[in-house]
Amino acid sequence: MDVESYSVKDVASILLGELGANLALGEPNSSGSLVTSFSVRRWNFKIEQALESKRQQKGKGVMSLHRYISFLFSELCTNFGPFDFEAMNEAERLAALNTFAFADIMTAYTWIRKQCIGEKLQLDVTCPSCGSKFTYVADLNSLTVRTAKSIDDLKWTYSLLEPFAYGKEQVTEIEFGPLRWHSLANAKIELGARKPQILCSSVLGINGRSVVVPESQFAEMGKRDLETILYWIDKNAIGPEMILEVSCPTAGCGTELKKLIDWGYDSFFSVSFH
Ligand SMILES: [Zn+2]
Repeated sequence: MDVESYSVKDVASILLGELGANLALGEPNSSGSLVTSFSVRRWNFKIEQALESKRQQKGKGVMSLHRYISFLFSELCTNFGPFDFEAMNEAERLAALNTFAFADIMTAYTWIRKQCIGEKLQLDVTCPSCGSKFTYVADLNSLTVRTAKSIDDLKWTYSLLEPFAYGKEQVTEIEFGPLRWHSLANAKIELGARKPQILCSSVLGINGRSVVVPESQFAEMGKRDLETILYWIDKNAIGPEMILEVSCPTAGCGTELKKLIDWGYDSFFSVSFH
């Protein structure tokens, strides 16, 4: 059994309620220090109208969650990490957001939901053991967020169990880092991105040099390596935990189950009356 560990360094866990308006990693300012703070203006009807008009842009079909969240932050945030959004135009704000880690965007998304709508999040759950359906009300303040102090701490190099052909060379090592927000820009999917896309978007380099990897280039990667890498990508991820542990309230059942939070905007940003 492969016992090699690819755990990233110095990741801390903190509850969202304690983290406050801070990102999981942040982006560096001009002197190289990571800035994690962000702030939001009051979410009023005017902002809602601006968002709605973005969403309804003619001939564009349904806006992807990536675009929608980017517009939401662009309208709502007054600063984000090192960026002073009030001194920037929309195109500059959207470009700035694209530089952040996916985990930063998700952390802010969760905090903004908590701050602007409330900490209670209602989840409809079906127990896989007894089949009963029940409502679970999560408290977003108690959501665990994994944070890091440096992007270098989040880099890890994977040694392939089965080296494979990549163009004219054999890939023996792949360097990974945190998934970036911009890498999901063209995703047709919502936030639950497909595994191959997450894998390729997390690649920083192969065999010691930087590359951007289109999915087709990893065609020869073996399944065992694929699954091992996905395991470590998941384990090394920072940002809010997307899965809640819930116990079934049905008498005599009590099954502990894992419930994935639905991060889709309409579901996540609706009010829970509990
Ligand atoms: Zn049950």
